[in-house]
Amino acid sequence: MKKTNLTIAAERQYSIEKEKFVPVSQYFGEDTFSHKVMKEKLPKDVFKKIMDAINEDTPLDAETANVVAHAIKEWALEKGATHFAHWFQPMTGITAEKHDAFVDPVSPGQVIERFSGKQLVQGEPDASSFPSGGIRATFEARGYTAWDMSSPAFIKRNGISTTLCIPTVFISYTGQALDKKTPLLRSIRALNKSATAMLKLLGVKNVKKVYSNLGPEQEYFLIDMDYYYKRQDLVLGGRTVVGAPPAKGQELEDQYFGSIKERISSFMHDVEEELFKLGIPAKTRHNEVAPSQYEIAPVYEEANLAIDHNQLVMETLRSVAKKHCLAALLNEKPFAKINGSGKHVNWSMSDNNGNNLLNPGSTPQDSIQFLVFLIATVRAVYKHADILRASVASYGNDHRLGANEAPPAIISVFLGDQLTQILENIEKGTVNKATNAEIIDLGISSLYQVSKDNTDRNRTSPFAFTGNKFEFRAVGSSQSISTQIIALNTIVAESIDELAQKIKAKGSDNINKSVFEVLKEEIKDIKPVLFNGDNYSKAWEEEAAKRGLPNEKTTPAALKALVTEKALSLFEKYEVLSRVELKSRQLIHLERYMKDMEIEVKCLNNICMNQIIPAAVSYQKRLAGAINATKEALGSAAVVSSQIELLKRVTELINNIYATDKDILAKVEAACSIHDEQKKAEMLSSKVKPKMDELREYVDALEGLVDDEIWPMPKFWEMLFIN
Ligand code: ADP
Ligand code: MG
Repeated sequence: MKKTNLTIAAERQYSIEKEKFVPVSQYFGEDTFSHKVMKEKLPKDVFKKIMDAINEDTPLDAETANVVAHAIKEWALEKGATHFAHWFQPMTGITAEKHDAFVDPVSPGQVIERFSGKQLVQGEPDASSFPSGGIRATFEARGYTAWDMSSPAFIKRNGISTTLCIPTVFISYTGQALDKKTPLLRSIRALNKSATAMLKLLGVKNVKKVYSNLGPEQEYFLIDMDYYYKRQDLVLGGRTVVGAPPAKGQELEDQYFGSIKERISSFMHDVEEELFKLGIPAKTRHNEVAPSQYEIAPVYEEANLAIDHNQLVMETLRSVAKKHCLAALLNEKPFAKINGSGKHVNWSMSDNNGNNLLNPGSTPQDSIQFLVFLIATVRAVYKHADILRASVASYGNDHRLGANEAPPAIISVFLGDQLTQILENIEKGTVNKATNAEIIDLGISSLYQVSKDNTDRNRTSPFAFTGNKFEFRAVGSSQSISTQIIALNTIVAESIDELAQKIKAKGSDNINKSVFEVLKEEIKDIKPVLFNGDNYSKAWEEEAAKRGLPNEKTTPAALKALVTEKALSLFEKYEVLSRVELKSRQLIHLERYMKDMEIEVKCLNNICMNQIIPAAVSYQKRLAGAINATKEALGSAAVVSSQIELLKRVTELINNIYATDKDILAKVEAACSIHDEQKKAEMLSSKVKPKMDELREYVDALEGLVDDEIWPMPKFWEMLFIN
């Protein structure tokens, strides 16, 4: 197979194009209206007002907003922007933007560029076509976008068009969250409140604010665009619904961290350049385990910013890929039987003085603080494993979770041997007075090494402590990471509060002693969620069942966790999501699951009927013709048993494909007549999905028999190895 024309064109382009080199530090963040730019462009008092508003989380007065709007407009015009857009994150999981031109007519035939404080602060897009889970009826279609000052406005360049994007929340006319940012900001607030109160209780001074931090490691595939456009399953659904694994996959283990091909390096360079302009600190890049699979990870940032940035990373991967005649696949499992893609989300909490609350520290006092926040997190995961599982549930991720490459649907926590030992020591209760000597006796003096040396990493754990942060690994590569962080921040806030109450209830003058008494009791309770072994093993599934840990394998089953009384009252209490909002989200996720599956069913049907069966039938005809012709030519001397056997197998597979496809369509139709959304989704998952897998087996078997020249779509080996 030769290189595609596009591959050749792309290579030529990139060998001649890159001539000049500008150090990144000279242009980093040049397309963002950053604090630095604000300081330069705004009058001193206005700059102070906006910084106060950001830090104190308070609204901006109209006059200040006007001054800021004017400055942003002038800056954006200098950058070549013609339009502005409120950039928001509806429940589709991706971003949305409606562009408005800066120009405004002032007299006939004359316009000027205008941008008011009101336009900066608030927008009013028609909300009727975004998923709302029944919150908003079409007759009250108005939705509002409101400026999120904590994330900087940025310039988006697309071809020759340039737009000023203003990060916003998106809420309904009645104030309900229609997006992923509103509850995220609320959860950040909730965690801040609980964690600062806990620090105060522990006697820590000078802490005004606690932040959650995120570093998402984004995995993706790149394939040549020529192949991509020949596969409607990839174009429409993001995942191949048919296709046999190639003769060589990842078994030689030569992909991971392997040297990066030139075309891919050029692509990565271009992506990073775009990200750097947007102030996104892209740091690491490497080949992943599967062929044509890669990873990009920025340095961690405050959660809200990191989530906006992750959206931009995903968008940039897709758009820059196109320029290189590549397609970036972010789906969780684009190729069956080849590793899928996840997004390891590294999460920690830090205070406004820059101290990481999950850093073990070196003094006994640091260690106590560390243990409190560590155990609060583990406790939260134990108590709400079902909610975390629900937060990663999606149609795409169902194909990945539980396969032998990704964490199972069981949410457990890995702490490593050293920390586990320390917790066991605390549980045994060797601390009586919580003196420094006693604390050190627990093994805590060696804690500082935990952050330095975490080589005994467990790659199979869905939720692993890695030195000074937790790494949530069950997240899918295409997902908005808001969903999981909303859940994580909220459940941890609750656990911190509950631990604080228990500590206070001990009523001792010695706070450290009270802390250890509480931790001792807690460790006993939460122990079932701790697991340092192989999460991919069958034995763990059995063990987890004995321990009573939830193990919901499908999205419809997992999503139920969002509408339990436990979940509804938790999110309500922390004012992150009202009952109505949470229920609507469960419905949105459920509907999305069904739509994703229905799209694939239709693709599968089209592919089978319009591509696979016609190709197979023409091969069948050729075989039959060859058998007859051979018999005619050779008479009784003809030996055509092999051709007959081949013809029989091809014919049988065609029949199986046709019958199974028909069966799938009938089952989908039956499911569609069910009015209860939960039952419908369960039926699709239990009845349709296994049949889709079965159909795939037939098609893939046929792929191995039919003439390569007439097989109607690119095969895995081409897509994964030619670029
Ligand atoms: P790995 O070895 O798991 O690939 P790295 O140590 O390179 O991971 O870190 C992966 C991600 O974790 C990066 O985005 C990094 O910035 C982020 N990270 C590091 N420290 C923290 C922290 N304290 N809180 C959140 N994320 C962090
Ligand atoms: Mg990692």
